[in-house]
Amino acid sequence: MFSWKRIRYGIMFGFLAYITWVGYQHQLLGGGRGGIPTVDALCPFGGLEAVYAWLTSGEWLRRTAPSSLVLFVIVAVLTLLLGRVFCGSICPLGSIGEFSNLAARKLGIRRRELPPSLDRGMRLLKYLFLFVILYMTWTTGTLAWRDRADPWSAWMHLSSGWEEISASPGGFIVLFILVIGAGLLIERFWCRYLCPLGAALGILQKFSLTKVAREEDTCISCGKCNRSCPMGLDPMSVDRVTSADCISCGRCVEECPVPGTLRFSTVGGWAMSALSVGLLGVTLYFAGYGASRLAGYWQTFPPTPTVSTSTAASPTGVPRNPDELKGSFSLAEIASGYGLELSSILEKAGWPADTDPDIKMREAADALGREASDIRNAVKELLKGP
Ligand code: SF4
Ligand code: SF4
Repeated sequence: MFSWKRIRYGIMFGFLAYITWVGYQHQLLGGGRGGIPTVDALCPFGGLEAVYAWLTSGEWLRRTAPSSLVLFVIVAVLTLLLGRVFCGSICPLGSIGEFSNLAARKLGIRRRELPPSLDRGMRLLKYLFLFVILYMTWTTGTLAWRDRADPWSAWMHLSSGWEEISASPGGFIVLFILVIGAGLLIERFWCRYLCPLGAALGILQKFSLTKVAREEDTCISCGKCNRSCPMGLDPMSVDRVTSADCISCGRCVEECPVPGTLRFSTVGGWAMSALSVGLLGVTLYFAGYGASRLAGYWQTFPPTPTVSTSTAASPTGVPRNPDELKGSFSLAEIASGYGLELSSILEKAGWPADTDPDIKMREAADALGREASDIRNAVKELLKGP
């Protein structure tokens, strides 16, 4: 008999490694139509953030793309059919949180839980967080959270170097403290209490056709299911796990020592094993991705000029705040993005006037023995005007 636990860890690790490689390649080769997709184009949450702007104006939020909406639709449908399989077996941030805890336990660090009353209150934080992010995004017309504290974006920019990390450290702080650090002690701390995508999917989970069910007559109340749950739930005490926080990982079902006592149950009462729910869910996710490619909906760059309230916004997608300029932008992109003359930027920065405009800012700085912050400061000065 195949163990879903091992297969699941294999899928989680494989996808995390693959997506991390994509992030590294993006840093190396850049984005755009012919390049490697940006972190935003590969995030289902970006689809949720973009949908309002797209529905009301037909345009895309800056840096989002149709692919993120495709991913959100796939993940939402999957959740309604089989539960939060995306969270349980695919999401790279969830995997980082779960693997951190696994590593901590291998090192002998004991798993902790918050006191029940604090735990219940903290679980509401993610809904508040979701509301605030969507409100800010939809009213400002830009990805409000992305540049401030997004740990997913931070993970995908880990290879961008110290200078960029220190230029916008918010996401890295969240990643290392709330996703990895807190996850060492409390498994999937980020997923339980803070993840805004998890909050949105949790609302859909309530309506999911598939839930974990328990046979009370055969349950011996050993507590193995509760102890195995990465989300700190209590399947031992309910007939059906209706919690929005169940991520359909199947760990409780596999840990139960009495065959048939815990199982996934669909409407109509059909029982499914953890293996079949997990494999079906992962297959549907990748099938949805493949179908969207075949149908021509998989587009990882914005199809139209993008929406932004910023006076400094541009089709090249430079950030509003020049301090957040990534080193992967070429000098020509920076100049056109802010509507400035490249010669003025170079002069202000004290860089040679014949610096190659198509070279990336980071590479140019390395080659000249200068700092990328010279260019950021020059842009800021020029935007202020005389
Ligand atoms: S709750 Fe958020 S971080 Fe956790 S697995 Fe789900 S989407 Fe990923
Ligand atoms: S209740 Fe079971 S399936 Fe749901 S999150 Fe906990 S261990 Fe996973």
